[in-house]
Amino acid sequence: MYEPEIFADVILPLAIKSTYTYRVPEGYTVSEGMRVTVPLGRNKYYTGIIYKIHGRKPEYKVKDIIPSDSGICVTTEQFRLWEWISEYYICKLGEIYNAAVPAKLKLSGNSEFLPEKFRYKKVREYFLDPALEDSELKVLIGKTKKHKRQHEVLTLLADKKNIHSTDFKIEHYGALKSLQKKGIVNYKEVIVERTAKNDIVQQPLPSLSKYQSEALSSINNIFTENKTVLLHGVTGSGKTEIYINLLKDRLEKGEDVLYLLPEIAVSSQLITRLKKFFGEQLLVYHSRINDNIRTEVYLKLLDRDRPPMLIIGVRSSIFLPFRNLGFVIVDEEHDSSYKQQDPAPRYHARDCAIILARIFHADVILGSATPSIESYYNAVNKKYGLVELNEKYHKNENTKFIVADTIRSAKRGEKISHFTHILLKEIDKTLTKNKQIILFQNRRGYSPYIECQECGHTFFCPDCNISMTYHKAKDLLICHYCGKNINTPKKCSSCGSTDIKTMGFGTEKIEEDILKIFPEASVSRLDMDTASNSGRFKRIISDFESGKTDILVGTQMVTKGFDFNGVTLSGVLNADNILNIPDFRAQERSFQMLVQVSGRAGRREEEGTTVIQTSQPDNPVIRQVTQNDYHSMFRNQLSERHRFLYPPFCRLIAFTLKNKDKNRLDLGIEIFGNELRHVFGRRLLGPDIKISAKIRNEYVSGFILKIEKEKSFQEAKKLIINLIDKIKTNKNMGGSVISIDVDPQ
Ligand code: ADP
Ligand code: ZN
Ligand code: ZN
Repeated sequence: MYEPEIFADVILPLAIKSTYTYRVPEGYTVSEGMRVTVPLGRNKYYTGIIYKIHGRKPEYKVKDIIPSDSGICVTTEQFRLWEWISEYYICKLGEIYNAAVPAKLKLSGNSEFLPEKFRYKKVREYFLDPALEDSELKVLIGKTKKHKRQHEVLTLLADKKNIHSTDFKIEHYGALKSLQKKGIVNYKEVIVERTAKNDIVQQPLPSLSKYQSEALSSINNIFTENKTVLLHGVTGSGKTEIYINLLKDRLEKGEDVLYLLPEIAVSSQLITRLKKFFGEQLLVYHSRINDNIRTEVYLKLLDRDRPPMLIIGVRSSIFLPFRNLGFVIVDEEHDSSYKQQDPAPRYHARDCAIILARIFHADVILGSATPSIESYYNAVNKKYGLVELNEKYHKNENTKFIVADTIRSAKRGEKISHFTHILLKEIDKTLTKNKQIILFQNRRGYSPYIECQECGHTFFCPDCNISMTYHKAKDLLICHYCGKNINTPKKCSSCGSTDIKTMGFGTEKIEEDILKIFPEASVSRLDMDTASNSGRFKRIISDFESGKTDILVGTQMVTKGFDFNGVTLSGVLNADNILNIPDFRAQERSFQMLVQVSGRAGRREEEGTTVIQTSQPDNPVIRQVTQNDYHSMFRNQLSERHRFLYPPFCRLIAFTLKNKDKNRLDLGIEIFGNELRHVFGRRLLGPDIKISAKIRNEYVSGFILKIEKEKSFQEAKKLIINLIDKIKTNKNMGGSVISIDVDPQ
């Protein structure tokens, strides 16, 4: 009998084409979404995903899929999201596949599905030597009183018999080893499920205040109209409690629920709080978990027999294989970390979450104390339903603002190092009351640059042409773009002078200076340099939580997601840094950041104080922050955006060109620029000097395209795709790599 040939379009983790066609060998059954191994080129193999199955034989000779025992790895709903992302952000399905599926599942070679080792892990189970008599044990326990750890270990084992290594504290590991050497303690390897069962007592739901209940019923009302909700609730209004109520309700109805947060806000504090309510139905997905756990979460969600799940995660969790997704929360929806910068797909997780929810007919809440201009504009225009919570849950938790004018206080000699007398007085008062302080500076390192006092020479990264930051503890100049570092020069490389000074200040210098002024205080620092090690990160947080540390100096990291009860003062060392960023979002961002910093001070029944140091005390944004006036900020910014044509009144697309050769880049920019201008005319801005730079040994430049809201975005994107296809074959482009960023942040 004649069997028609079957072909499959397969998505490979490559950026060249969206799909590649293969023949399905006879007798091998495939389905869409299945993971398969395929050959490419001479002897390369990839793990791909079957996208479409069909009977259209291509013109060219196709290779066969290599049969293997595999399963579905991508669901229909995931494909719908991928398609939307690919079209909206102008990128290839392969790039999305790369971002969406954990690396372990993309390994080429023989692909045995659901490998045991991803589902289970081995741990040591410790027990006392069975030959040990009770009386001997008693004697031993008595004897080890001097060795605190050994004593604790023995007491625990005497009490509980068998204990997993993971249930001991790290401090006990040394004692376990020595007891094992002596033959008193033994162990065997046992297999446990990775997401081990915890002894969680599920708590009853928090009962809501009057305002919270009202907000909750407004939210549910808006859902009946199939609209997205924007929950604008001041810091401390108890948005989380409202979320918990909604999440619980939906899980009980058998729906999957997704709770998105910015990277750093997925703090263990919140997880601990949620674990109490959701126990094992809670899965966590962020970048600090390793690929094994990531794979495990992915596979667990694919499992047909699983119960409904709550996934709490960062932007990439929109790519997980949900089933019957009923409800999505995007908390801190204004946060710019929801946008992926590099590599493609350059997606915005908030916007994708709304699409994801539409695919599942699920409800969405966007939550923030300081909504993005775009989202609030959508609410004002009734595209979203708006719910506002202006009351704090703990009524007395208000924050008093003090604006300290840095120029005035310098003139009057009322400044020590980078601290105004006003800030120092508040710090002193707070320390006297035994309360805690957060100091915010959005630059890490000691000083952003060093300068020769003789000739004015500053030191630039040779690969990036950007000034290198001085890190004192490491005694290095480090490039914050590419990470390159050099020993701190003792002499000016231009004039030979040894008179080199540090300029400006970062968190490291603040930490050093505050210790000089308050030598009795215990100070610690939280930024990318100290938090890169996850053990150290946890210790910094727990020491501050427990009150061991008095003052925490940090970058943005300290402002997000933490709820420290002892903090009654927060200080912003230099608001100018954020206000003066040359970007149309600078004012909005400054407002958001300053409000967030102030939200760290004053929890529970205690009034908090926030000191903002700035040379622009009359800047409208400073006033809007100190008067808690989001609506003024919104109106102000909206009219600016309207006047200068920026989102939400238009859409932006950024193009970046990169080349190792400066001349070739310039040529590419000219050719590409001419083509774009030919099609888009005055809508094209650039090439921009500001973004023209050298980064990681490559020269970079680019353009911004503004598409008016009334014009068809689809149409514009089609023109762009054609133009790029055409330009690719132009040899004069000199190999410049073009990347596209739709809705750049
Ligand atoms: P937000 O996320 O809006 O800033 P949170 O949800 O963190 O606010 O709530 C602020 C504080 O108020 C927290 O300490 C929280 O435990 C408390 N809180 C809020 N709502 C309730 C409630 N209904 N019952 C008990 N405590 C609440
Ligand atoms: Zn010099
Ligand atoms: Zn560099």
